[in-house]
This record gives sequence, C-alpha cells and structure tokens, in this order.
Amino acid sequence: MYHDDNQPPYRCHEVSIYDLFSPIQHHVSRVTLVESNVYEQRLFCWKLLYDWSTQAMVTCPFYVHKFTVVIYLDCLQLSLDMTSLNHFLQHRPGGNQYPLTILDGGTGTELIRMGFTNIDDDPLFSAKLLSTNPEAIKEVHKRFYKAGSDIVVTATYQASIEGLQKYIEITSQEAYDLIKKGVLLAKQAAQEVQSECPDRKLLLVAGSVGPYGACLHDGSEYRGDYMGKISIDDLKAWHQPRIKLLMEAGVDLLAIETIPCLAEALAIIDIMNDIPGCRGWITFSCKDGKHTCSGDNFSESINQVMMSKCVVAAGLNCTSPIYVTDLLDTLRPYSVVKPIIVKPNSGEMWDTSHKWHGGVKNVSELAKVWVKNGASWLGGCCRVYPEDITKLKSAVMNL
Ligand SMILES: [Zn+2]
Repeated sequence: MYHDDNQPPYRCHEVSIYDLFSPIQHHVSRVTLVESNVYEQRLFCWKLLYDWSTQAMVTCPFYVHKFTVVIYLDCLQLSLDMTSLNHFLQHRPGGNQYPLTILDGGTGTELIRMGFTNIDDDPLFSAKLLSTNPEAIKEVHKRFYKAGSDIVVTATYQASIEGLQKYIEITSQEAYDLIKKGVLLAKQAAQEVQSECPDRKLLLVAGSVGPYGACLHDGSEYRGDYMGKISIDDLKAWHQPRIKLLMEAGVDLLAIETIPCLAEALAIIDIMNDIPGCRGWITFSCKDGKHTCSGDNFSESINQVMMSKCVVAAGLNCTSPIYVTDLLDTLRPYSVVKPIIVKPNSGEMWDTSHKWHGGVKNVSELAKVWVKNGASWLGGCCRVYPEDITKLKSAVMNL
C-alpha cells in the first residue's frame, strides 16, 4: 500500500495491531512515533493510528529494525520498544514456556571446511576473512539461515580493534570499519535468504563478542586464567569499543560467547548497561557437568547473568555435548526466568597428530532430552555444520 519501490523487496515484516495494543485498547488515546527521521517509519505509525481507529490489521511492509512507539494511555505514557528483537521474542512459534529458537553452528569451522584452512592458526580466526574473503563469510551465514537458523552470529568473535590493527596492520578506523562489515555481511545474508525463501521472515543477526582470552591466542580463553592478570577496568576498556560498534552497526542483539568465567560476563554486562537498547545473550564454555571453564559454578553464573535486564537468554557454548545434560540438571533447583541456550561443539578432540577424533554422533537425539530439560535456544559451535543444524531442527521441532 505504501511500499516504496526504491526499497529492497525483502521487507516483509508483519505486525498485528491487536498483538501490540489489544490488552490496553480501551485506554489508548494517541499513538505516536519518536526518535525516527525515517519517512517510511513515520508513515507506518500514521497507518497504525488510522487502522487502530478502524480496527483493521496492520501489515508493515518494511523490515522493522529499531524505533520506539509511544502510546498515550489517557494521561499515562508508555514506551513500546519495537525492535525486531522484541518482535521476534513475541512471535516465535511453539507452545513451550520459551518457544524453540534455532541458532547457527560453527562459522569458523564451516569456513575451514570450505577450504580456508589457514584461519585455524590465525590469531584473528574467521575475522581474518572480513578483509580477505568477505563473500565467503556471507555464504556461511546464508548456509546456516537456509539450514534453519533463526539467528546467525557475526564473524567478529576474535575481531578486537587491537587485534585487527596488530595482525593485519591497519588503522583503528579501518579496524572499526571491518567490524561493521562483519555485521553488514550477516544482514545481507539474512536479506538474500528472505528474498529467496519468503516464508523465512524473522531472521536476526547477533554480534559475536568473544572473551578477552581469545585475543591472546594461547588457549587461555578456555581456562580464564587471564582474569588475575588484567584489571576489570582494563578488561572493560578492551571489550567496550567492539560492543559499541556492533550495536551501532545494527545487530539485533549481542552473542557474548565462550565466556570462561562469571567475572568477565559481569564486566561485559556493565558495559551493556551503559549503552541504550543494548541486549544480548551470554553463553559460558564449560569444562565438565557443573563448572564453567574457569571453574565457576555454572548454575550460579547463569542465575546471576539472567538477573540483568540486558540479558535476553543465557547458557553454554563450545562445550562437549557429553556435559550438557548434567549442566542443565544443575539449573533444575532454580526458577530460570529466561530462555536457556545450548550451543555445544561436536565433542571432537584435536590430538597431537593434528587430527580430530572422537565426537558425539547422536547430538540430535540428545537435543530432544535437552529440550525436555529446559533448553529452548539450540545451535552448535565448533565443527557443527549447516547440515547438523537441519538435523537438530527437525529433531526438536517434531517433539
Ligand atoms: Zn566453538
């Protein structure tokens, strides 16, 4: 109806006015839009008002990203955050307490399988390809979306400003631009998959934030033993620029992942608290069925981070599948108030002869148990490929 021909055709977000306002319909006196200079968003709001008065359904022809609608309730005023994340959280299919959401698998290991084997030993890991082969990163994101992922994670896990400057000898501005490019590639992948597959409407982008240890390139990200060597203030100063940049570049949420210890998670939450609208998930790497990789109690860590209003979901990633059921069991005594994330790796071990061995073959079967034990956001990590995500999705969606 008010589709702008200059806009890309991927914008097909549907918003029901009843979903938005029906609980308070008798008190709505005025609806208006603030903090937006975007013409089509203002147009949408006018249409919203008109259709409110005529009780019609509203279809929003553009991809809602971030804007705020203020509803005037007689003399009260409420702000409604109409981000795509909010819309996503409210419109997931399924009847569980927290509807199932499918995340992606290992971006880096899929790139390695595509032939980019040199990133395995690179201090920037998959972020190296942001400068050399950005199309390959976009292709991996598309593979995961097509495999069934609702949310993919940007290739910025090891992309700190400092690391990018050091290892590819670029200026800080160029490093900033590369991190933003990581977001753009994932957003382009979502848009291209949406135009190829019109039934895939709600595809989100999470900005990957790895732990400080990942930049040290000495395996300490899986031990967390750097925490005694860096002050919390220095840790926050290291994390803050990337988090701010990812938010500015328009990610729907952050993926704070492979965090070995609670103290680093809490430092990151402090940073998020200072950035308006900043939200994300936090996943810990775990070394057994009870502890994060640094030895913190997993269940206490989850409960602490879930208390933050910035955290929309929490759980584990890059952890062997053999520990997941026990880790979920530790959460049973608590009334967990947000979705629990399970993103294990393949369980394979890298041995001294430089070969992968072992691994858990029946992850999809295990995933059914994990869902029964409370997990609702599921995906994978290292050496979990798009076809594994498809298998996982069909296993848990048919429960
Ligand atoms: Zn991993």
